[in-house]
Amino acid sequence: MAEYITTKSGAFKDFIKGVVSWSRKWSFWPIPIGTACCGIEYMAIVASHFDISRWGAEVVRFSPRQADLMVVAGTITRKMADVLRRVWEQMAEPKWVISFGSCASSGNGIYQTYSVLDGIDKIIPVDVYIAGCPPRPEAFLEALEYLQSKLEGKKEYFEELKQKGKIIQMKGKPVIIG
Ligand code: SF4
Repeated sequence: MAEYITTKSGAFKDFIKGVVSWSRKWSFWPIPIGTACCGIEYMAIVASHFDISRWGAEVVRFSPRQADLMVVAGTITRKMADVLRRVWEQMAEPKWVISFGSCASSGNGIYQTYSVLDGIDKIIPVDVYIAGCPPRPEAFLEALEYLQSKLEGKKEYFEELKQKGKIIQMKGKPVIIG
């Protein structure tokens, strides 16, 4: 009997976990940190042509307390680093971060100066990077789908992108080819 109850409650827990991940998967609330040209690219993604509402991620919030997906799109200077970290700390849990473009991901070669942070991962954890200057809007959608598949614990999407040459792994982190 005890075994029966354990099995049933285990199945129920799995079911609830599945429902929660499914809901999170289709309801990202992004907070964009658009500091340069990649920010404009992000605006295109949210607009009608690419229409991220098809992925349930169109409810862009400008308060970190109402957001769970930070999209850093543009150059982050050292002066801004503390502010970015504070905004990230104020976001609701669980939260994710997409580093959109070369500037956010590495400081970008052309701007590697004393005033520019060489990658936001120096101050906050990043879930997925998107390479490119600027990356294609489609690359952002691939990153979003990658995060969705990660939420559901599925590895097939990563393999699918890998076979198409659209994703690589660097230091154990996924990088979408922009
Ligand atoms: S990666 Fe390129 S397009 Fe994006 S903010 Fe930097 S310079 Fe601009």
